Amino acid sequence: MIGIFGGTFDPVHYGHLRSAIEVKEIFGLDEVRLIPSAQPPHRTSPLASAAMRLDMLRLATENQPSLFIDTRELDRQGASFMVHTLLSLKHDFPQQPLLLIIGSDAFNGLTGWHQWQQLFDYAHIIVLTRPGFIVQRLDIFFASRHTINKQELSEQSAGKLYFQPVTQLEISATKIRTMIADNRNPAYLLPDAVLTYIRQHQLYQAQTVT
Ligand code: ATP
Repeated sequence: MIGIFGGTFDPVHYGHLRSAIEVKEIFGLDEVRLIPSAQPPHRTSPLASAAMRLDMLRLATENQPSLFIDTRELDRQGASFMVHTLLSLKHDFPQQPLLLIIGSDAFNGLTGWHQWQQLFDYAHIIVLTRPGFIVQRLDIFFASRHTINKQELSEQSAGKLYFQPVTQLEISATKIRTMIADNRNPAYLLPDAVLTYIRQHQLYQAQTVT
């Protein structure tokens, strides 16, 4: 099984990285693919360029061979729709169940994603608990896909919804950007190498925050 963890990673932080490692171990995944989004369709544009967000991901994962950076959304034109990303991954890995990993905040907005129902044609969805975001009551579409049996995820190629608690880290990229703009120190919320890069490139300074 392969884990798919998409995001803007503007910047990548320990909330992403710790979650990715825990999911890999809990589900016995071969790898987790971190997929930076080019033009996120559901939110405002990232502040750092795609190249810089990719540089930061590389710095954050250089000692973690099980975290693989997948640039397919940056390499293709147009908006980064996850359903297209899953389709292309399914093409590359036809025999492997795909686990789409999203935080509970993202799950609460899932029905706004392009062709969101089709996501289940290509992957299972694993929802991670995230501090401050409680999952709303499941409607019939989600309830019919919900399972508490982890084994079903490896037995079926796609279509299941599973909730997975992970270590609760109340970290967001927004909070880190705000701290930097306010001249506060976000050390220990993200890897030192990423923070050094942010400082070298003067990212997220007050005048660039919208
Ligand atoms: P921003 O604050 O800019 O919205 P973010 O910190 O939410 O950014 P994203 O890159 O947008 O980071 O998130 C990518 C994925 O990681 C999403 O599915 C999100 O729910 C999840 N995620 C982000 N932070 C955490 C965290 N602290 N714990 C668990 N999941 C997280």
